[in-house]
Amino acid sequence: MHRFFLPEDWLADGTVTITGRLVHRLRHVLRLGAGDNIIVLDNSGWEYEVELQKVDSSKVAGRVIRKSLAVAEPRTKITLYQALLKGNNFEFVLQKCTEIGVAGFVPVICERCVAGEPDGRRLSRWRSIIVEAAEQSRRGKLPTLHKPISFTEACRSASGVSLLPWEVEKAQGISDVLRVHHQTEKIPQFSIFIGPEGGFSPHEIGVAQSSGVEPVSLGPRILRAETAGLVTAAVTLYEFGEMR
Ligand code: SAM
Repeated sequence: MHRFFLPEDWLADGTVTITGRLVHRLRHVLRLGAGDNIIVLDNSGWEYEVELQKVDSSKVAGRVIRKSLAVAEPRTKITLYQALLKGNNFEFVLQKCTEIGVAGFVPVICERCVAGEPDGRRLSRWRSIIVEAAEQSRRGKLPTLHKPISFTEACRSASGVSLLPWEVEKAQGISDVLRVHHQTEKIPQFSIFIGPEGGFSPHEIGVAQSSGVEPVSLGPRILRAETAGLVTAAVTLYEFGEMR
């Protein structure tokens, strides 16, 4: 069944009213009409099965026939602090990491970033990518997207267990670190820092360490910047039992 995140005020008293661009998509692209069912989400973690009752050129109206908790939201909350990346690579990260269950994204401006800060148009494109990936992967909540911040601010704002995959780190591997935290974290919450194409600078590593962000290794292979966040989030979710 097709799934759509809607503004919460479009749902009221067991009814749903849809206006704007989604009307065209429902009518002309998906060819849905009265009597068809869809699932709508209001970003609360609940999902609502809706029977469409009226579909016209400006409005679609329906009634809620079932309400249930979305089952795909991980209990383990991961915020990905991802350095800005060249080309469409940041979009790749947003799409894939939304699919696997990341709860929030913070674009980070690092010393070695080649990519510039996103303008308003790009940020709204990033939001749409998150919404589409969340609908496709059956998430019940949309990952948050923060505005870009400096690396120092990012280190200050991080919460939970803060890990920074760093290719120079040899002593601490990601699997050992996660195993230790698995034994101690009751409500698992992670902040994961991934550098830009050229990696973190020595100064940034110093700032991270003095803020309590732990460098970890992802093993001997050097991953591309757009791969590293996905891999780190996936192994974290795996270790915390979110891939059963
Ligand atoms: N320029 C660096 C080099 O050539 O050694 C590689 C940087 S890598 C492309 C980009 C980011 O991915 C790094 O800042 C780090 O966060 C992460 N990363 C990639 N491979 C890693 C590994 N084997 N261990 C830990 N972090 C890794």
